[in-house]
Order: sequence, then structure tokens, then C-alpha cells
Amino acid sequence: MNRMHKENFKIKKDFLLLENNKSSVIFSTAEDERSFNRNTDEGIDAINSIKEDFNVDKVIYLNQIHSDIVLNYNDEIDFIENEGDGIITNKRNIAIGVFTADCVPVIIVNEVDGVIGAVHSGWKGTFNSITKKALQRMVDLYSVNHKNTKIYIGAHIRKCCYEVSEELKEKFIKEKNIKEDILFDGRNLSLKECIIKDVIDSGILEENIYDFDSCTYCEDKVKLHSYRKSNGSYGRLFSFVLLK
Ligand SMILES: [Zn+2]
Repeated sequence: MNRMHKENFKIKKDFLLLENNKSSVIFSTAEDERSFNRNTDEGIDAINSIKEDFNVDKVIYLNQIHSDIVLNYNDEIDFIENEGDGIITNKRNIAIGVFTADCVPVIIVNEVDGVIGAVHSGWKGTFNSITKKALQRMVDLYSVNHKNTKIYIGAHIRKCCYEVSEELKEKFIKEKNIKEDILFDGRNLSLKECIIKDVIDSGILEENIYDFDSCTYCEDKVKLHSYRKSNGSYGRLFSFVLLK
């Protein structure tokens, strides 16, 4: 696994940007106090500004419901009213992304087969292995070979700060088949370890996993939105990917 820090990204406005050959992976920050909350006018303006800033035809996102639903984007449907928490596509010049403020944004890129994905993985999505389902959908629809797939795990609330109930802890230990001391520190849960296991089980190579090693709750080098830290404010990060 490759750990990434702010220094590994190009900075463009209040975004952190990774330029690959045929794709770009982008994480918004709260450096300019912008929020990508789709339920606010400010958020819609911020989302729309991505078209110009990154030269894409459309910005595609979902009505996120903490599900394990993964949808495939094609031109025919009005996508933004659809409920779900994962999007995949093989369309070029389309940004697909997810909103988070502590939950895990997972970006999937396969440049060889020309397929990308964006997943919103909170505790429910992580518990229900939504990333694994997105990776499977890519195989089912596009025959993607995951030997060439790269995974980018964005900033989220990490084991350092993510305390859960005893009940939820038991639930994860029972279901996840990961050593307790890797998964938990006391009642602090690592969503990342669950996602990494799902990703490895799906055939992704460890060297192709990139972890943006920042916690939305306690990171001090880059400003990020945290739901817990702000007592549930409307600040949202938007993590997205596009095929050039
Ligand atoms: Zn933390």
C-alpha cells in the first residue's frame, strides 16, 4: 500500500489533484471553506464549477443513502435523482463523485480497460462491502481485469478518532474476519482495514492501493470537512474521478 500526503498532490484552487495518463483523481478540501453539499445553493454552485475547472461535460453524483447500491452511468438516465452510493462508468470527460464528511471516499481507476468508479463508504456501506460490489460490477459489465485497477482511499475519520458503540464493534468483529487488534483500538474502528480486505479479496494488487493518509477529524495540515467535529454541519467534501 502507498501512503499519500498533501505533498503527493498537485494543488488546484481548493482541490488536491492526481494526474494520471488517462484519468484524474481529485479530492476537494475545505481550504476555501467551500462545501459540496448538494442540498444547498452554495453546494450546487460548487459542483457546477467543476465542469469548467476540470473541463468535463457533466458532473455525476447520486442521492446517497448509506446503501450498497452501485449504479452504472450511461447517457440515457437523469442520474442525480437516483439513490445509491457507488457509481461506475466507462464514459470519458464525465466526472463521477461522492460526497463525504467523515465517511470514506473510495476512487477506482482502471486505465487499461477504461473504467472508473467512485464509492461512498460509511460504516454501513463498509459493513456491507460496497467497494467489493462496485469492483464486481466492473467485472460483470465491462470485464475489467483488476490486476490493472488502482484504488485511492480518500480522507475520512480514521481509527485515531472513530469511536463506535460496543454493539457495532461486536457486529464488525463477527462479520469481518479481520484480527481484532488490526480492526479496533478499544472501540475505535478502522473502516480502511475493512475496505482494504475487500479490495485485496477482489484481486487488486497491494501495490496499486493508495491511501491519502489524512483523518477528517484530526488532520492539521490540510483543512477538511468533518461531520462529527462540526457537530453535524453542512460541510461536505467531494471526491471524484474522470477519464480524459
Ligand atoms: Zn483522527
